[in-house]
Amino acid sequence: MASDCIFCKIAAGEIPAKKAYEDEHLFAFHDIDPKAPTHVLVIPRQHIASLAHASDKDAATLSQLLNAVPAIAAQLGLTNGFRTVINTGADGGQTVSHLHLHILGGRAMHWPPG
Ligand code: 5GP
Ligand code: ZN
Repeated sequence: MASDCIFCKIAAGEIPAKKAYEDEHLFAFHDIDPKAPTHVLVIPRQHIASLAHASDKDAATLSQLLNAVPAIAAQLGLTNGFRTVINTGADGGQTVSHLHLHILGGRAMHWPPG
């Protein structure tokens, strides 16, 4: 756990969040500033600063992150589809330096993104 990381603190229960899912490896919670009717963030409990910081040793974590999405989306009722996003670094629009996967749904998404 990175002591100055808000997402590490959310996963540890030290900062409150509206939980959507959790298991041994992952924590998912509703975004505080939703960009769609449903907007959930899925994070590994392990602190990885961004996708650009992930390496071969994180392969299992990355697999768990993506593999959890179908069940979380189904639980959220996103039967008509959803958007998954991982913003990385400054140009990617990443604002929190703990790897997180956005699940956005409940409306039709636009393409290309801004
Ligand atoms: P990023 O821009 O890094 O891809 O996404 C970070 C997301 O985290 C943003 O959508 C922002 O609204 C959300 N966020 C930032 N701080 C908090 C918080 O304290 N609680 C929750 N639930 N979401 C947060
Ligand atoms: Zn962290």
